[in-house]
Amino acid sequence: MADIHITSRVRGSFLCALKSSKKSPSSHIEIKTEKKFGLGENHFIVCRNCGNRITTPERIISVNGEHAHTFTNPEGFTYDIGCFSVAEGCDVYGEPTREHTWFHGFTWRFCVCSGCLMHLGWNYEREGESFFGLILDLLADTSATH
Ligand SMILES: [Zn+2]
Repeated sequence: MADIHITSRVRGSFLCALKSSKKSPSSHIEIKTEKKFGLGENHFIVCRNCGNRITTPERIISVNGEHAHTFTNPEGFTYDIGCFSVAEGCDVYGEPTREHTWFHGFTWRFCVCSGCLMHLGWNYEREGESFFGLILDLLADTSATH
């Protein structure tokens, strides 16, 4: 179970651009793994609705330097999503689309909890790279139940 490390081929120029403009250039998306909470193995991030294991803290990644992103969709709903390299507890469905994509250059599909089919977020893909953006409010941490 190797983590998927996704790093941008244009990392150097991306960082330079960040320093000079303090703004993320929309065409450069950087993804990297992030050890955030220092949590042990046997630790799971689960569906808040049904308790299905969705992913683990080891799968936390950052995209454009941040794990968590806040987005508002065209219907006006705002979502706080967290980025994960893999989410085994999700089923991904739908045709990949770039419509209103929140991450430039990535297509997205819906992903739902494989246990209760609740919509948990989106799977983002571009050539050779993919990650999950999951709605943080719909996830729970197994450590919180102890
Ligand atoms: Zn569920």
